[in-house]
Amino acid sequence: MTYRKVALIGLGLIASSMYWAMKRAGMETHVSGYARSEKTRETARRLGLCDVVCDSLEEVVKDADLVVLAVPVGAMGGIAETIAPHLKPGATVTDVGSVKRAVIEAVRPHIPEGVHFVPAHPMAGTEHSGPDSGFASLFDNRWCLIVPDGAPDAATAALEDFWHALGANTERMDVQHHDLVCAVVSHIPHLIAYTMVGVADDLRRVSDQEVIKFSAAGFRDFTRIAASDPTMWRDVFLTNKEATLEILGRFTEELFALQRAIRTGDGDTLFDYFTHTREIRRGIL
Ligand code: NAD
Repeated sequence: MTYRKVALIGLGLIASSMYWAMKRAGMETHVSGYARSEKTRETARRLGLCDVVCDSLEEVVKDADLVVLAVPVGAMGGIAETIAPHLKPGATVTDVGSVKRAVIEAVRPHIPEGVHFVPAHPMAGTEHSGPDSGFASLFDNRWCLIVPDGAPDAATAALEDFWHALGANTERMDVQHHDLVCAVVSHIPHLIAYTMVGVADDLRRVSDQEVIKFSAAGFRDFTRIAASDPTMWRDVFLTNKEATLEILGRFTEELFALQRAIRTGDGDTLFDYFTHTREIRRGIL
């Protein structure tokens, strides 16, 4: 099944990439878009993003078969509440949020009878944000995790087909597993990048010596990741508290073990650890 009309709410990196990927796929779907700020709406119109850019939430969801919430996680509940009375019976509401339990708790209570809610999370992004940062190939060969959480199979399968057309592979997952997996492969790595750049900057301030200027490949990647959108990442940590604290605890244990090996000159432990992680990397290539 293809959607006749899709509404994109929030016109940033993910929504704009979805629009360009839909166009690339040749989907004959009418796409309406909405962003909160007048400036973003003007930029979207100038870029030709969406078939129509609407000035209200009520207008953007009118007659939509699929409504995509592509705003920061903390804003999703309020938007769901506002659009609820205007949703078409039989429509599907989905989201692209980086956490799922908090989104489901905030959004599901507002979904009216006869409308389906199928949460999703495309595992693709860059450090850029805003309506001019999107591109058609963002989702190519990337995972889009689908968390049906009780949604009917037909609505879930239709959303999977949609994401396949956008270039992504899909996998169904339960909500708890999703939030834990994302804490490991995305959220804590971002926290480490933010922290490393903070440490380098602190060193510069204390010693009054340049540090970041000399960054080479690995550290440059940290600075790139640490340039990611502050609102989005604040919301991720506030709403995936349990899983990120769980993984942070495990990470700290591993770090202490390596710290001890360094302090005691235990080269075997360091060598074995690094050999093991190199094998993991080779296994995924
Ligand atoms: P972005 O900052 O590029 O865009 C967000 C858009 O939402 C902006 O246009 C902003 O103006 C709008 N917005 C913010 N608050 C709003 C509100 N209350 N009402 C209406 N519009 C509002 O962000 P993005 O990277 O596209 O992220 C959007 C969602 O996708 C987030 O939930 C994020 O967790 C998720 N996500 C992001 C990435 C990534 O790496 N960037 C990856 C996967 C999922």
